[in-house]
Amino acid sequence: MQKLEQLYEGKAKKVFKTDDPELLIVDYKDDATAFNGLKKGSIAGKGVINNQMSNRLMAKLEKAGVPTHFVQELSPRETLVKKVSIVPLEVIVRNLSAGSFAKRYGVEEGIVFDAPTIEFSYKNDELGDPLLNSYHALALKLATAEEIDTIKRYAFQVNDFLKALWAECGVILVDFKLEFGRLADGSIVLADEISPDTCRLWDEKTHEKLDKDRFRRDLGGVEDAYAEIMKRLMDHDAD
Ligand code: ADP
Ligand code: UDP
Repeated sequence: MQKLEQLYEGKAKKVFKTDDPELLIVDYKDDATAFNGLKKGSIAGKGVINNQMSNRLMAKLEKAGVPTHFVQELSPRETLVKKVSIVPLEVIVRNLSAGSFAKRYGVEEGIVFDAPTIEFSYKNDELGDPLLNSYHALALKLATAEEIDTIKRYAFQVNDFLKALWAECGVILVDFKLEFGRLADGSIVLADEISPDTCRLWDEKTHEKLDKDRFRRDLGGVEDAYAEIMKRLMDHDAD
């Protein structure tokens, strides 16, 4: 499958057309941004890790019954995916307090919730991805009520599956962001990526951060953390 015209260059990936109108090629970069693009940098090897990790996780999720955009890994940084029309919602699931949740509600990080939470942000860089609820999403016609129900159901299914998988790797799945899209037939599938850029992943014993917070918070050892988390997943899969 050949890369044709570039459709889009985002902060972490480039998206290309192919000769099949229903398929795209995503190309993962090492570029990293945080705080809505205010902080910029690069994490050597990140594109390869995020591409390969996202593909492994999506293939597992697909088997577990969550439909995804994943088709085929083409190279270390490139993947063939089903073209979707992205639902402009960032879907965030949390198992422990961290990040914007801890800040917004004035609580410490690391509080374990009795049940996972879900929240939506309006995916809109100009507005800074504002938080919204499902009534707002309906009012703005971002998705239908049925689509929102499906998205919530898939998001919690993804959480159950990934929380258990990461636990087997000695890792706590703190929180993560998902994006969903509509295929040509209108059905909802999981799209974008699942990687240390989009998840908070803590070592089970030390609570060491093995994700993009090392970049956001200038904690150092960013590349090593990405390599370590990928190794944990590979070792798990090899067992
Ligand atoms: P951003 O747009 O936030 O800078 P990226 O650099 O990751 O993010 O760019 C990838 C873009 O591709 C995102 O806007 C994402 O919503 C979109 N995307 C992800 N998967 C698909 C897909 N299967 N079909 C169409 N667009 C997709
Ligand atoms: N997240 C993301 N993209 C975003 C915002 C958040 O991938 O634009 C992920 C982030 O990596 C974390 C989870 O979603 O795993 C929750 O992020 P939070 O709302 O705490 O925001 P942050 O503290 O990152 O600003």
